[in-house]
Amino acid sequence: MIKDKILVIGANGQIGTALLKQLRLVHGTNAVIASDITAPKDIQEPFVLLDATNVLALVETVHRFGITQIYHLAAVLSAKGELDPLRAWDLNMRTLFNVFEVAREVKLDKVFFPSSIAAFGDSAPQYDTPQTTFLDPSTVYGISKVAGENWAGYYHKRYGLDIRSLRYPGVISYQSMPGGGTTDYAVEIFHDAVQHKPYTCFLKEDTLLPMIYMDDAIRATLELMEAPVENIRVRSSYNLAGMSFTPAQLTAEIQRHLPDFSVQYQPDFRQMIADSWPKSIDDTAAQHDWYWKPQFDLSGMTQIMIQKLTEKYQQKHLITQ
Ligand code: NAD
Repeated sequence: MIKDKILVIGANGQIGTALLKQLRLVHGTNAVIASDITAPKDIQEPFVLLDATNVLALVETVHRFGITQIYHLAAVLSAKGELDPLRAWDLNMRTLFNVFEVAREVKLDKVFFPSSIAAFGDSAPQYDTPQTTFLDPSTVYGISKVAGENWAGYYHKRYGLDIRSLRYPGVISYQSMPGGGTTDYAVEIFHDAVQHKPYTCFLKEDTLLPMIYMDDAIRATLELMEAPVENIRVRSSYNLAGMSFTPAQLTAEIQRHLPDFSVQYQPDFRQMIADSWPKSIDDTAAQHDWYWKPQFDLSGMTQIMIQKLTEKYQQKHLITQ
């Protein structure tokens, strides 16, 4: 049996940092090659500096390491994408096509490409948003994700490429900062809370959005990728649910641990993006096809975020003293 050799593209990002660690636990460090356009502060070898818009560099990396699977995480996210829509479209689509084309040419075993709740727009039902519904996204990021989902289906149907995908909700983690999305507040808020600072939220207090704790997001990714091929019946991207909450509900939950914590609300352009997104997700297909079940709710997630970030800032404080 040929051993899996995995390339993670965008490994320094919010999800990549956590995914890399878990993939290396499962497959062994040397079987998982990290890559990104910038080098991380603490490089965990094997690491390759790779701009995924450069197809020749991608081909060279795939050949050099004998890659059999790619996790393609590089993208410009929802809020950042609105600042320069054409650049976001260009990067998201160019890297996607490079990955899909290399995967087809080299006949990779599997590819993972994340979509997002940003694929949905005003016409989709906002509560329990179904797997199959209108996809009329309000952002260039969402448009690139819908296009990516359709191309994933096309490459599967036309070339038999085993591309698997999840529509991640907002991902909450303590390991690294988020990279310019509309749900970033749900991470930033914890950093200020544990440092006993007030937080200014860029969304209105009653903005209900679907979220997921990082451990659940990573477990979903690995469970999807490890599922038998005959179980994978959605070839665009699977809806994935963790929990849903508003900034006010999250603040109240944090205040159970840190009673003096306070939040002000100053909604900006991200409010309009959030208003076009689902409030909760129906992930019945994922539950049915590969037995998805989240483990973290608002209270469990809040407890671990406060604990981990408190430890992190205490260590930082000790180091800088
Ligand atoms: P991030 O912005 O934190 O990380 C993206 C990484 O890609 C960065 O390290 C960046 O340096 C790298 N990158 C950018 N351009 C590159 C290029 N040309 N070549 C190689 N690397 C490049 O993003 P993330 O939050 O980790 O998201 C990862 C994926 O998951 C993205 O596709 C995103 O759309 C999707 N997603 C994320 C969330 C979330 O809440 N974080 C939600 C839904 C979907």
